[in-house]
Amino acid sequence: MTAEGDIRDLLVIGGGINGCGVARDAAGRGLSVTLAEMSDLASATSSASTKLFHGGLRYLEYFEFRLVRESLIERETLLRAMPHIAWPMRFVLPYHPDMRFESDTPTSKLLNTFMPWMRGRRPAWLIRLGLLLYDTLGGRKILPGTTTVDLATAPEGRALQPRFAKAYEYSDCWVEDARLVVLNARDAEARGARIMTRTQVTSAEAQGGLWNVTLKDTRTGASQIIRARTIVNAGGPWVGDVIRDTVHSRSTDSVRLVRGSHIVTRRLFGHDKCYFFQGTDGRIMFAIPYETDFTLIGTTDQEHEGPDTPPVCTPEEQAYMVDFVNAYLAQPISVEDIVWTYSGVRPLYDDGSSSATAATRDYTLKVDKTAGAPVINIFGGKITTYRRLAEGVMDLVSDLSPDLPGKWTAGVPLPGGDFAVSEVEAKIADLARAYPFLSAAWARRMIRAYGTDAHNVLGTAKAASDLGQDFGATLTAAEVDWLMDREYASTADDIVWRRTKLGLRLAGQEITTLETYMQRRDNAAAAE
Ligand SMILES: Cc1cc2nc3c(=O)[nH]c(=O)nc-3n(C[C@H](O)[C@H](O)[C@H](O)COP(=O)(O)OP(=O)(O)OC[C@H]3O[C@@H](n4cnc5c(N)ncnc54)[C@H](O)[C@@H]3O)c2cc1C
Repeated sequence: MTAEGDIRDLLVIGGGINGCGVARDAAGRGLSVTLAEMSDLASATSSASTKLFHGGLRYLEYFEFRLVRESLIERETLLRAMPHIAWPMRFVLPYHPDMRFESDTPTSKLLNTFMPWMRGRRPAWLIRLGLLLYDTLGGRKILPGTTTVDLATAPEGRALQPRFAKAYEYSDCWVEDARLVVLNARDAEARGARIMTRTQVTSAEAQGGLWNVTLKDTRTGASQIIRARTIVNAGGPWVGDVIRDTVHSRSTDSVRLVRGSHIVTRRLFGHDKCYFFQGTDGRIMFAIPYETDFTLIGTTDQEHEGPDTPPVCTPEEQAYMVDFVNAYLAQPISVEDIVWTYSGVRPLYDDGSSSATAATRDYTLKVDKTAGAPVINIFGGKITTYRRLAEGVMDLVSDLSPDLPGKWTAGVPLPGGDFAVSEVEAKIADLARAYPFLSAAWARRMIRAYGTDAHNVLGTAKAASDLGQDFGATLTAAEVDWLMDREYASTADDIVWRRTKLGLRLAGQEITTLETYMQRRDNAAAAE
């Protein structure tokens, strides 16, 4: 087989947040980009996060000031560009003197030296100091700062055991992680990138300084070869496999796979704030209002054997998280209360840290030319830093092709996000007025998912029946068609677990009906 067509400037391997963020940035600078994702967009780590745009309060204990500062500043930049899929959230951190540091953080080592009588406990003044840093490092404009909460009187105290008298409350942001990935892919395509899902990069051979890359359609098995100047390896958990087995480089950098799991229960508390619980083992756990009627609890840190082992939330992890939150909740929960779990694998740069919790969450970018043409390998990173990471990749690309235009993505809205953070409620009201048949929850869901594009999804409909087949839980054919035509969805799972989270509400039979509809639609398109 020989290479076909033009030479692409970039071939991006992986349609997670980092690959899609790089594709968008590169396409916007006029580079020709092809992105190949072997499964669905965001099918791996990027739909399995805790879904926070956050500085990472915990990382202050590791003195990761660069990462925390960059992430804190980035929160508001991202929020402005996507006020539909991201929103400010307040975090309530109940204080109790028994809370302990993980024993090998730089902070705990310092405290053990100078205040050995604390025996690893986190003193209140240190938490306050950390929050003061958190408030000031990142130049907040939209997000409110830290306050103290009297749990005996505040509504946030009701869900907690009475032994918690005081809490601190600080700001971070929520983001719909899987939608963030898809919107970056859509914007990349709108700027000229070619986005190929269900397409695996099976090999790449360097020839005369260019890459001949073999792409395999995972549905039909058909292969094609394309040529590219540079490969961006955004393979996430597979980054090491791509280095070794696909591009055959001699790079010695390696990845550390750390699994994190979450559990979802029915809603455990009435307010819309999130809890930040600290354990006596030095770890932390979030309990977050989720999808209106649910609570999301996570996460864990477990070494994970290999990228091809599907990450699952083990019974031990489930029990650990249940016990963790039960140390705080007034009404204890049990594993029977769990309605859904998910797990993802953090593709961390192997910095030789002793524990999974201690391994750096910062990203590392490496240019590797040992195979005869350039590859940029991406390790680690966070959802929160994806845009800055993409800029970092572009800096490395500009070393290879010096005429590249400068940075452009800060403040440029993602599709549907062309309105101010303060206008969300007005947008929901506008939509409800334009489509009076929508319930309040439905209108909210549409704006939160699609922003101003919600009008395009609903089109000229005057009644719910104009939106075609009703699959349940407000999912209609009009939305499914949009997701298949504009958002790369091709299976029911793509829709019910990534483009939306309606899998939490739809019955098994309803999902089967959706799958049948999608297959029929695909077959009809193929027959045309
Ligand atoms: C439990 C957990 C909680 C987290 N919480 C947060 C949080 O709250 N906030 C935050 O900022 N960050 C968080 N993160 C970190 C964040 O989720 C990850 O850093 C980020 O999603 C990594 O994205 P990625 O694009 O590098 O990898 P991925 O999303 O895994 O994407 C890699 C993609 O590459 C594809 N691929 C691999 N090999 C090939 C190939 N040969 N051909 C084609 N495609 C290929 C895969 O199919 C995959 O889709 C969390 C991570 C975990 C695990």
